[in-house]
This record gives sequence, C-alpha cells and structure tokens, in this order.
Amino acid sequence: MTRFFQILFFSFCFLLQAQNLKIIQKPIGYSKERMKLSLDYMKEHHNLIQKTPNITPKIIVLHYTAGGTIESNFRYFNNLYLENQRATLKKQSSLNVSAHFLVDRDGTVYQLVDPELFARHTIGLNHCAIGVENIGSKSQPLTDKQVEANAELVKYLVKKYPVEYLIGHSEYGVFRNSELWKETDPKYFTGKEDPGSDFMKKVREKLRDLKLKSQP
Ligand SMILES: [Zn+2]
Repeated sequence: MTRFFQILFFSFCFLLQAQNLKIIQKPIGYSKERMKLSLDYMKEHHNLIQKTPNITPKIIVLHYTAGGTIESNFRYFNNLYLENQRATLKKQSSLNVSAHFLVDRDGTVYQLVDPELFARHTIGLNHCAIGVENIGSKSQPLTDKQVEANAELVKYLVKKYPVEYLIGHSEYGVFRNSELWKETDPKYFTGKEDPGSDFMKKVREKLRDLKLKSQP
C-alpha cells in the first residue's frame, strides 16, 4: 500500500511540475516615452520604421542579471533611461535595457514586458527576440529550479509564438551576418558570458523534442 501511495504522490508531483508554469505579472512601465525611445531604436539600429514597437518573436535569449534580487532588478529595468556608467551602450541609445521575463532563484517567473513588445537586451536581435533574465551571476550559478522554469517558459512561448531559436546571450555572435541580424552599426557588439554553457546545456536537454535551433 505504501508503494501505491508513493507512486501516486510522485505522479501528482510530476503533473504539478509539468502543468504549473505560473507567470506572475509584474509589468515595468511601458509609457509613451518608452514607446518613442523603442521606436527610435528600431529605426536607428534595425532600419525598421513602425507605428508601434511590436515585434514578432523568433528567438528566445536566456540571460543572467549578474547579481541583485527580483526587486532590485525590477527597479533597474523599470528605469526608462540607461545609467551614465554604461557609456558604450548609451552612445547608441539612451533607452534602458530590459527583458520580457525575470526568473528568481526559486524558479518563480515574472513577466515584465509583453513578449510582443520591443525590449532592449540583445544587440542585433532585439527586433525579434524575447529576453529571459535569471537572478544569478558567474559566482552565483543558476539553480536547478531556474533550469526547470526556463524550460517550462520556453515550452509555453514556443506554443504561443513563431519561435525557432533558443540561445544564451553569450552565443548571440553567431547570428552576425545572418538574415536575422539587424544592427546598422557594424562596430556595435559587446562580448557576453551569460548565462553560461552549463545552464544552456541543462535547459536544452529538457527541450530536445522541440528541436529549437541555436544558430542561423
Ligand atoms: Zn545578457
């Protein structure tokens, strides 16, 4: 009898895990001013002239925040303008960086921006990329719960949008010179190491069936 309940319990946990992707809505301010700065960025960097900063998501880019908490990162992304210290980025546009999702170390998923709206997180690909940030850093590796949550989130997004690619931010350079790469300044490129190859490997293992591409 004990064995029966054990199996029942584990099946129940599995079902919970498989079906319970809970996304907590925690939107950053997408004001008229953010819309204007996003449209300017799309025009200047991607040669895209639009009336609204809408995107058609084709790529999911996973990141880590390099520190902080949900609250501190939320406050940071909620700022409309980039801080002065980030001179390389600021020279290109004063629009602040942000992301569509933010995943806490316990796997809780927060949505900050509608996935069909522009967010600045990956040079060259922002016009078609959903950005997922994870609380962590090189010295604070991402957790198994974050692996699980990212995999579930990707599954959900692939069902909803025409996503074909999944990459880690550090891998984005392979899209240079591809059709998807839209950056008018050929010199605008920064080296990245987030979220780490170990994390990407673990997430991809959980998503093998989806056959998402990692390069153009
Ligand atoms: Zn990143």
